[in-house]
Amino acid sequence: MSKTVTVTIDGQEVTIPEGTTIYDAAKEVGIDIPVICYHPHLTANGLCRVCSVDSGGRLQSAACVTNCWDGMEVKTDTEEVKRGRRTILEMLASTVNLEESPEILDLVDMYDADTERFDEGIRRESPVYDDNPFYIRDYNQCVNCWRCVQVCADDAQFAFALNFEGRGFDTKIATFQGDGMMDTTCVFCGQCVGVCPTGALKPKRQALLEEGIDPDSIFEQTRRKRNKKKG
Ligand code: SF4
Repeated sequence: MSKTVTVTIDGQEVTIPEGTTIYDAAKEVGIDIPVICYHPHLTANGLCRVCSVDSGGRLQSAACVTNCWDGMEVKTDTEEVKRGRRTILEMLASTVNLEESPEILDLVDMYDADTERFDEGIRRESPVYDDNPFYIRDYNQCVNCWRCVQVCADDAQFAFALNFEGRGFDTKIATFQGDGMMDTTCVFCGQCVGVCPTGALKPKRQALLEEGIDPDSIFEQTRRKRNKKKG
């Protein structure tokens, strides 16, 4: 029989299998901890830290990657926890265009984040990559959550077309040697687009529709490209 641990989350006691994360244990008692980089079908990496909670230690713990231990007391909504989330959202807003990130904008509202607090900060800027008939990559909207990298790699597709490039503030998602998407191992499965929480990855047809191009022209554009490729 597998071992269990008992923890208290915001005053509610819950017993779960050993190895359960704080995030999943909280779900058991109906508490939704906010996330950005976490996705239930992908490996959690604790990158964005917006899920950080008070677990009784000196530092807050990222709920998506911290396993519960017996007797743990977790507080998910203290003033300190909320202040941390607010600051993370404010820093994100200072560097990245969040206009097409509805879930993150909901968090901005929920935590009353001031998106202009760090207005003097340097924004992360990138060209928009329109290099294939299927999707557009606009890394000006990318929050480096790594979901697209995970789903393209050993969490699902095993294509390994995407990875990180650069360090620190300059870290960004890229293809090997910056190759255009048609020259990578990408199989255009669309899973990266499906898990992206922002407007960074967008189906080309959606982008063209948003530009006001009519559906027949969009179909023509796509078909012409396909015919051209067939030679
Ligand atoms: S492109 Fe989207 S899924 Fe990939 S890291 Fe950026 S925000 Fe996350």
